[in-house]
Amino acid sequence: MATPPTHVSIDRLSHDLRELSEIGREADGGVYRMAFTDADMAGKSWLEDRMKSAGLEVSRDGASNVIGRLRGRDPQAPALLIGSHIDTVPCAGILDGTLGVLTGLECLRALHESGRQPERDIELVAFSDEEGRFGGMFGSQAFTGAINPDGIHLATDPSGIKLADAMKEQGLDPWLALQARRDPQSVAAYLELHIEQGPVLSQAGEQIGVVEAITGLFKWTVTLAGEPNHAGTTPMPMRRDAFMGVADFAHEIPRLLDENGSDRSRATIGRVDLTPGSANTVPGEARFTLDVRDTDETVLHELAEAARRALHAIARRRGLRFSYEVESWIPPVACDPSLSSMVEAAAAHQGLRYRRMESGAAHDAQIVASICPVGMIFVPSIEGKSHSPAEWTAWDDIEAGARVMLGTIERFAFSPSPTHPTSPASSTSPKTP
Ligand SMILES: [Zn+2]
Repeated sequence: MATPPTHVSIDRLSHDLRELSEIGREADGGVYRMAFTDADMAGKSWLEDRMKSAGLEVSRDGASNVIGRLRGRDPQAPALLIGSHIDTVPCAGILDGTLGVLTGLECLRALHESGRQPERDIELVAFSDEEGRFGGMFGSQAFTGAINPDGIHLATDPSGIKLADAMKEQGLDPWLALQARRDPQSVAAYLELHIEQGPVLSQAGEQIGVVEAITGLFKWTVTLAGEPNHAGTTPMPMRRDAFMGVADFAHEIPRLLDENGSDRSRATIGRVDLTPGSANTVPGEARFTLDVRDTDETVLHELAEAARRALHAIARRRGLRFSYEVESWIPPVACDPSLSSMVEAAAAHQGLRYRRMESGAAHDAQIVASICPVGMIFVPSIEGKSHSPAEWTAWDDIEAGARVMLGTIERFAFSPSPTHPTSPASSTSPKTP
């Protein structure tokens, strides 16, 4: 007997989104569900209730990742994992992370209702502290076995509160996070839907991004040291002005990217501190951050070398000393080609406008890629806005994303002889999100 096709309900999804958005909402309109706060824990409890109502088996691991399982026909087959996170930055919008979790919930609810049983288990997960109150990606790192006792002990939030204390405050044992590690053999693949958080899809009028790679990055803190001097009495040719070195370097960035980068390269100087920092003194020292991203690790290495050479030349020309510290190096992650093809096929089947693209932001998928193949679906962010109450995606596009997610789940978990992605994505050991 042919089973009727399964449909996601945008009404139920929007109801869930609105209900969860009220947990942690403050008077300024922003959502404040930072990891391991009361609001975050209330959000997790709400999610567990919704998962149970949707017919899922609910559990919480040692890192307080919330997991809901829809049983498949073959209990031995590794599960398809879907999800994202429901913690937020301070004063957040309502979609970042949450949309992926609640879209997954709606897909599993629709499947459960239809009575169709997948060939393999499907697990919906909401990972803890993706947004970085305590550094970021805590839940997915625990899940993949990438944390250690030292990391748990040292992690603190910007106000100095320790992760371990914040967890204890919520009645959790931080040491149990070390037991959250999942056997990689038990997970077949991870699929994450997320808002794009950039302007590309919105400006192109497209509804779906088929993510091919998640960008890698390096962050440096660069110091240029010259000599502080009187702004009136020091003639221009006799200065060793540290800020002029920064200005020279900033001006060289387009050339560095043209010569050594790709069309996916990005470079940003996000912060400059000048010492002594007074209006009538030539700056003696400039410290600045350099954030460089690309989806190809070879390109990242070439950009790092080119930046080093440029800084060296500028320092010599300006009479400055130059040094830098590598704050982080996060390798890019490729999405699994066969999962990307399933996402693309689902979008094409629905007649949606889509494009293949990279993710310029870090996501849990980047971490989970160390244990299994990963795929990502993007939906447009209006005007590219995110990490703000102005963050939004049109309902049409949210519905399109949910249908593509369901279509991808059906392709992966319902096929009688499921297509196994074969190439594990490149591994990663990130330190910051
Ligand atoms: Zn997110």
